[in-house]
Amino acid sequence: MSDNDGKKTLGLGGSRPSNVKQSFSHGRTKNVVVETKRKRVVVPKPGAAAKPTGVTPAVSRDPSKRPAGISDVELERRMKALAMAKAREAEEAAAREAEEKERAAEREQRRAEAEAKEAEDREREERAKAKAEEEARKKAAAEAKKNAPAAPAADPAAVPGEAAISRPAAGARKTDRERDNRNEKNNKSKPDGRGGDNRRGGKLTLSAATAGREGGRQRSMAAMKRKQDRARAKAMGVSAEREKVYREVALPEAITVSELAARMTERVADVVKALMTNGIMATQTQTIDADTAELIIEEFGHTVVRVSDADVEQSIITEEDKAEDLKPRAPIITIMGHVDHGKTSLLDAIRKTRVTQGEAGGITQHIGAYQVTTDGGQVLSFLDTPGHAAFTSMRSRGAQVTDIVVLVVAADDAVMPQTIEAINHAKAAEVPMIVAINKIDRPAANADKVRTDLLQHEVIVEKMSGEVQDVEVSAVTGQGLDQLLEAIALQAEILELKANPDRAAAGAVIEAQLDVGRGPVATVLVQTGTLRKGDIFVVGEQWGKVRALIDDKGDRVDEAGPSVPVEVLGLNGTPEAGDVLNVVETEAQAREIAEYREKAAKDKRAAAGAATTLEQLMANAKANEDVSELPILVKADVQGSAEAIVQAMEKIGNDEVRVRVLHSGVGAITESDIGLAEASGAPVFGFNVRANASARNTANQKGVEIRYYSVIYDLVDDVKAAASGLLSAEIREKFIGYATIKDVFKVSNVGKVAGCLVTEGVARRSAGVRLLRDNVVVHEGTLKTLKRFKDEVAEVQSGQECGMAFENYEDIRADDVIEIFEREEVERNL
Ligand code: GDP
Repeated sequence: MSDNDGKKTLGLGGSRPSNVKQSFSHGRTKNVVVETKRKRVVVPKPGAAAKPTGVTPAVSRDPSKRPAGISDVELERRMKALAMAKAREAEEAAAREAEEKERAAEREQRRAEAEAKEAEDREREERAKAKAEEEARKKAAAEAKKNAPAAPAADPAAVPGEAAISRPAAGARKTDRERDNRNEKNNKSKPDGRGGDNRRGGKLTLSAATAGREGGRQRSMAAMKRKQDRARAKAMGVSAEREKVYREVALPEAITVSELAARMTERVADVVKALMTNGIMATQTQTIDADTAELIIEEFGHTVVRVSDADVEQSIITEEDKAEDLKPRAPIITIMGHVDHGKTSLLDAIRKTRVTQGEAGGITQHIGAYQVTTDGGQVLSFLDTPGHAAFTSMRSRGAQVTDIVVLVVAADDAVMPQTIEAINHAKAAEVPMIVAINKIDRPAANADKVRTDLLQHEVIVEKMSGEVQDVEVSAVTGQGLDQLLEAIALQAEILELKANPDRAAAGAVIEAQLDVGRGPVATVLVQTGTLRKGDIFVVGEQWGKVRALIDDKGDRVDEAGPSVPVEVLGLNGTPEAGDVLNVVETEAQAREIAEYREKAAKDKRAAAGAATTLEQLMANAKANEDVSELPILVKADVQGSAEAIVQAMEKIGNDEVRVRVLHSGVGAITESDIGLAEASGAPVFGFNVRANASARNTANQKGVEIRYYSVIYDLVDDVKAAASGLLSAEIREKFIGYATIKDVFKVSNVGKVAGCLVTEGVARRSAGVRLLRDNVVVHEGTLKTLKRFKDEVAEVQSGQECGMAFENYEDIRADDVIEIFEREEVERNL
């Protein structure tokens, strides 16, 4: 090896062992080698360093190579040695040092090495005898691994100059054997390897080596024990904890893993582990449902206390009012009765009489409720939404808005099915009734027949010696209206209606709609407290801050007390009739409650939708022979329209066919509407509203029929026809195109002109047009002009830009959509 190295490369030789050094370049080699040697030699052992010094130049490269190859060997040997006797390890270390020295000698010359070995051996033997005592001490000490290294260190101290030798001596017989072995191996592997061994061995021996290795073993053993101990301790500890700290864990409907851990005061890792053992892989930030969480909580031995998200609603103040805070309030009256018996006429008559009598101008605004003042000065609040549907739908939402029901019965018609229905509703709501025997002006009027008929339904009027007031009226002539109002006022007095105006307001939504100019608007009948401008509130699934309050005369007001109906502006969305409005303290609370309700309602709807579908399909399948149902969905621009349509739908039908409104609502037709329609095989009717883009696509894909109407009569007619199985799929109106308004210009002599892009189909000058804003029909009419560049044209194709202006309509805005349609004469099958 040495020869080879020497012969060949300088560089390689440099990197390799001793041989190279000798034979080769003195200049280069010397420089490099010398530095290396010194450093390495110096570091390893003081004793060793001293000896090799002379050899330095030749040896210099050996160390670098040897360490790597030999170290393993050493390791093995050391391992063996350690296994044999820990106590002797110190000796071995000494032996290694000796070997290092030997190797150093070998580097000079093999002979020298051999001699050195022999010499060392002798020395060792001699010193072994001499220092047998020291060994005895060491063995006696037989302390930890570290003691061993310490001992060698002590030895050199004892015999300063001979430190190196002293250790070998300690090595004794075994050491010798080992040395021999090593020597042999070294010889085989050649001096370089030995040099490495020596150095490493030396380093290890002195500092970390022995300790480290011995330590490694001992540590590993100890570590095992400690681990076991810890495991036991843990097990004990954990179980102890469980036994010690039982917690009541408040569990909401959903909780994150880390929050769950925190509430149990358990470690997150343990919780994650517990989840995993239950087959749930969840990170600490993930949310798990209450059932899963409950399992885990019980597994950890804690107790579960379920809390509901509904607790957020607790920020709504529900405390009882003190008697002294209560002040008299106006009664709230709903007029009910059979269709065509004169409910609307009566409401109008009452309002007109009072308005024309009381107000100048007499211009009133329909907001769903209004107040009148009797001659006696009593204020009465009338709900301007006649019908059972409104009454019951409100009641079903928990809004008991009515104090008194006025039951209208036409004197010429007497008690009819819906009269009975109305009686039942009033009774169910435990609301007192006043009977208004209407159309008393009619020749065929027979008030007494009405009274007798009512007896059959346990309504005993005063004239029949009962307690129910009855008044003969005529909405047409105005006869008896004042008496009716007085009767109501009297009934109200008996009821002693009171409310506390000095608290956070609560009220019920009478009507709500998305107003084109003002955004979502709701008419709220304040039931308790006083609603003021700036109040933050939650109403159903919506919330808001009162931007403006408008009374039934169209005037802006700053506040509205109990029993006062007002239009509320400043909502973030459109609530539904019957929703309850509550004033809360902060926007955060309002938002939180609204979000919670929205989520809850969504879940409920999803569940209900699924149930309806299945049940209905089943029912249909069963009942098909007798009565068939025509399921429909209705979406309208305002609540009033939706309700009117639903009512009209309920009237349609006979013994064989029934119309069933699966769902009705306000606003654009959405994908969820289409989903429900598809599931039930129902068509969707849009009254002055359109399907949004995604709903339109889904409907196309799923084959759900969407029909648009702007006249209730048309809609009712079509449904009637469909219910009779007579209506084929003809379309009355054909949409021929859509255009989006990009910009609006003002042109003198023409007015506002919309700069449009035709996005679908074609725009035709002769066609009808509708202006859609957020999928709600804002205007319907005709085009005044259709321009392509500067020319008036008859048609503009999809993808092209054009200018359009509406006849007699100027409120056009960018992003509005223009729907272009043509009416087709369709042969009706009625
Ligand atoms: P509703 O369906 O209960 O709201 O009934 P309406 O208010 O629409 O009235 C139905 C019809 O009865 C209308 O044509 C009214 O003009 C008529 N009507 C209502 N009240 C009176 C009345 O007191 N006298 C007469 N002669 N006709 C009335």
